[in-house]
Amino acid sequence: MFDFFFYLLAYILPAYLGFRLSKEQGRSIWAWTIACTVFSWFGVIALVLSRPGPPTAQQYAKANPGNAAGGMSCNRCGSRSIRVWREQAFIKVRQYHICNHCGTTLYRSM
Ligand SMILES: [Zn+2]
Repeated sequence: MFDFFFYLLAYILPAYLGFRLSKEQGRSIWAWTIACTVFSWFGVIALVLSRPGPPTAQQYAKANPGNAAGGMSCNRCGSRSIRVWREQAFIKVRQYHICNHCGTTLYRSM
């Protein structure tokens, strides 16, 4: 009985989390599932820490050309009201541009 819970906690649960998270984030599902099976919870931690953030302004403009023409607008609701959320972690400053209408994080700058 103990063996079952040990294998469940040490291998099956991290593998399942690796599968779900990589599928959600659109990353390599097989590679992350195998990595999370082999490295157990360290693989899950690596997957969470290395997830990509919001796109840069250039990437956003390229992916949504209709929302970048003549000033940025939200790709979800079309609102032109965008606020800047500034976050400083130690010495690194990040700026997130968030739609005022629907609250979607659109892109980052800096
Ligand atoms: Zn919006």
